[in-house]
Amino acid sequence: MRLQELCEFCDEYLQVGEFDDYCPNGLQVEANPEVRHIVCGVTASQALIEAAAAAGADTILVHHGYFWKGESQPLTGVKGRRIASLIRNDINLLAYHLPLDAHAEVGNNVQLAALMDWRVEDRFGEQNLVLEGRPARAQSLADLAAEIDRRLDTRALAISAGEHEIRRLAWCSGAAQGFIETAAVRGVDAFVSGEVSEPTFHLAREMGLHYIAAGHHATERYGVQALAAKIADRFGIRQQFIDIPNPV
Ligand SMILES: [Zn+2]
Repeated sequence: MRLQELCEFCDEYLQVGEFDDYCPNGLQVEANPEVRHIVCGVTASQALIEAAAAAGADTILVHHGYFWKGESQPLTGVKGRRIASLIRNDINLLAYHLPLDAHAEVGNNVQLAALMDWRVEDRFGEQNLVLEGRPARAQSLADLAAEIDRRLDTRALAISAGEHEIRRLAWCSGAAQGFIETAAVRGVDAFVSGEVSEPTFHLAREMGLHYIAAGHHATERYGVQALAAKIADRFGIRQQFIDIPNPV
C-alpha cells in the first residue's frame, strides 16, 4: 500500500487531532513511498531499527518515536544516528503516543485490561487516559503482583498500603505514577502503572491505595501490536512485532 494511505488510516483511526501530546503523532520519518512489511515495537531505538532492517521491513511503527518537547533539535548524536539509519535503509517511521495509550480498541490501557482480564468500567484523569474497573476476582496485592509478573513477563514492584483486598483498581501504562493522587480520590483499592518515583511510595501509603509499577516497557508492548494487527487485517500488509527487552 501507499505510505500516505497508511498514515491517513492511522491518523484517523487513532483520532490524533483530539490529543495534546509531547511529540508529533503520525509519520515522523519519510523514507519509502511503498509499505509492504511493517515492524512494530515499543521504542524506535537503534536496536529496533537494525532488527527491522535485517527483517527487510520498509516501515517501523512504534509507541515511542522522536522529537519530544524540550529535547535538543539538531539531528546529531544518538538521534542523528537513528534517523540516518532509517533513511539509509529506506525505512519509514510512524509513531503514536497518547492516542495509542487511550484508544478504545487498540490502546495500551484497553489491551492491558484484556490481557489481565480486568473489566473496564470508567475512565478519568488528564485527557481521560486512566482506566478504572475490576479484576476478575477480589485478590490480595501479592496475588495481583504475581499475576502481572506472569501475564506481562515482567518483575513488578508492589507497594503495600495495608491489608485490604483489591476489588476495584485503576491503571495507566507507562510513566503514569503522577496519576496516583487522582486515582486515590476515585476510591480504588490499587493503582497500576509502568514506572515509579520516590514520592509514590509515601503517597500510596498515606492515601491508602496499593501501588504496582509493572514496567513502562512491559505495560506498553500491546497497543502497537494490536494496531499493527488491525492494519495487517485491513490492508493485507505483512507485520511482525520485535521486542527489544527493557527492564524499565
Ligand atoms: Zn510510554
